Amino acid sequence: MSTADSNAAEVRDVIVVGSGPAGYTTAIYTARANLKPLIFAGSVTAGGELMNTTEVENFPGFPDGVQGPELMDKLEQQAAKFGAQIEFEDVASLDLEGEVKRVVLGNGEEHLARAVVIATGSAYRELGLPNEKRLSGHGVSWCATCDGFFFKDQDIAVVGGGDSAMEEALFLTKFARSVTVVHRRDSLRASKIMADRALAHDKIKFAWNSEIADVRGDDKVTGLVLRSTVDGSESELDVTGVFVAIGNDPRTELVKDVLDLTPEGTIAVEGRTSRTSIPGVFAAGDVVDPTYRQAITAAGSGCVAGLDVEHYLANLE
Ligand code: FAD
Repeated sequence: MSTADSNAAEVRDVIVVGSGPAGYTTAIYTARANLKPLIFAGSVTAGGELMNTTEVENFPGFPDGVQGPELMDKLEQQAAKFGAQIEFEDVASLDLEGEVKRVVLGNGEEHLARAVVIATGSAYRELGLPNEKRLSGHGVSWCATCDGFFFKDQDIAVVGGGDSAMEEALFLTKFARSVTVVHRRDSLRASKIMADRALAHDKIKFAWNSEIADVRGDDKVTGLVLRSTVDGSESELDVTGVFVAIGNDPRTELVKDVLDLTPEGTIAVEGRTSRTSIPGVFAAGDVVDPTYRQAITAAGSGCVAGLDVEHYLANLE
């Protein structure tokens, strides 16, 4: 009998896909309910989005803040302490119909469970510049709510022309001395009300027909190189921070053809629950959230999924 066959023979109570705040919180709840959860954490991206950041100051319980990777390490330890089995593997495909669900890993192994929780998060779109990644958490950010506070009285930039870019820019005016919106076109894609608010704001300036050619800085952002989308000419913008607001993609590749999705592309769940369109399949965290996308909301959503799994399994018996 191969390893895959022997793994497939055991039907677990619950398998969780994802090891961000949502996945680990589901793991903590289901482990404490004695459901012996198996977590597929992912190989390269284990720990989720907070592994890409430095200081997290808004997660309750840490008055002095906590480094993102340290917080994720603590969540992992907490899940393991209660008996969650954590495997740093990628899930390649899922067969979710029927009472027993099949989870197939990238290495070919198969695992079975009565309940599956999808907590695969979402990905902020990136500009694709080498220095953008290098300076992430050191002046490059994707989240004004998370990081705006660090830019008091500084000159900063927001990239994008849609509603979320305008929302980020307006929010950042509470802290920054000036906010320059860098946009590829000569008009905004944002709704009229958001665009009008941003255009009228005395702290917000616009660099029209411009894209970012490079992010400058050794340890921290010191400026941007802008390139004209009209004639290709380059200019410098002196800023100490840049917020990239060009979109966000929920990670639904594994389920987009089988589960119902919302118009925003997140997994559709029933009301305030984590129940998806297939019984026994639950979803939590940023993959269901087009709006809030915070570590604490993802953790809360993971708690909901853990409790929903408990109730679902209890009703099967
Ligand atoms: P994620 O954290 O994205 O985790 C997704 C998980 O799914 C990962 O473990 C990944 O490995 C796994 N996965 C995906 N596909 C597969 C697969 N096929 N197989 C196995 N595993 C898979 N929020 C705050 O509250 N405060 C902050 O200060 C803050 N700072 C941030 C800074 C940055 C740079 C970014 C990008 C985000 C920040 N956020 C912050 C937002 C916060 O990180 C997210 O809201 C939160 O991580 C979402 O949690 P999640 O569990 O839903 O998903």
